[in-house]
Amino acid sequence: MDLGIAGKRALVTASSKGLGRGCAEALAAAGVNLVLNARGAEALDATAAAIRAAHGVEVIAVAADITNEAGRAEVLDAAGQIDILVTNAGGPPPGLWSDWSRDDFIAAVDANMLAPIALMQAALPGMIDRGWGRVVNITSGSVKAPIPQLGLSNTARAGLTGFVAGTARQVAQHGVTINNMLPGIHATDRAQSLDSGVSKAEGIDMEAARKKREATIPARRYGTAGEFGAMCAFLCSQHSGFIVGQNIVLDGGAINTTI
Ligand code: NAP
Repeated sequence: MDLGIAGKRALVTASSKGLGRGCAEALAAAGVNLVLNARGAEALDATAAAIRAAHGVEVIAVAADITNEAGRAEVLDAAGQIDILVTNAGGPPPGLWSDWSRDDFIAAVDANMLAPIALMQAALPGMIDRGWGRVVNITSGSVKAPIPQLGLSNTARAGLTGFVAGTARQVAQHGVTINNMLPGIHATDRAQSLDSGVSKAEGIDMEAARKKREATIPARRYGTAGEFGAMCAFLCSQHSGFIVGQNIVLDGGAINTTI
């Protein structure tokens, strides 16, 4: 399918690895020029080079922390006028509801709620002026079904989801869509670190920890960054203009709901 977005320009934050990289690769395969970001320059530059070589699109890489104002300013400055925004950042650490301090909550809200909101506030006016834009936020299945040990994620991402629900319906009249993608478990470094926590806590090896988690997923496997990216590219395409303010779950059926 021709996604109809060749030549457009996308900013994909937190994209040197994992789901952000999956989105960047799928957009590049559709002919979209990219601005990529992560904190670590080495992996970021390697990803940028690999995507340039594979897809022949323009790729600018900006090493910066997207969760603080100075980092965001650097990234937005390098990005300039963008047609597509994919927001992403690392997830908050696991823990217990009773352990988190005000500072922990503020850090999580900064990273997983206020950072994507600030990026949208920066990108939306230009998209509205030009009458076309696509925003996809990478959130989490924790928005739909809370994950007990990820209470910081449950909390911060719920706030982002509320902002998107209201804002998406205000900007849609200008040809601009905002949607969220809610990953279940995908085979990335993040999943490895969650498996490693289970492995240590239960005294089992990593393979056993993964098998145990896979058994809870109807698809009996982890998702891939490639299939996640394909959905992201579709949501950023010309075909998705009537998909507004939705929360698309990609979890192999793990969240047990009828709707
Ligand atoms: P990942 O494989 O660990 O990759 C994270 C990427 O984000 C890396 O490129 C990392 O590079 C970059 N990054 C992290 N913090 C950043 C920051 N402050 N500023 C800029 N870049 C940053 O993670 P993932 O699995 O793709 O997960 C992406 C998001 O989806 C996370 O928020 C995660 O919580 C959420 N999620 C993932 C899963 C899953 O199963 N994978 C499930 C539910 C939700 P640097 O470290 O070099 O900055």
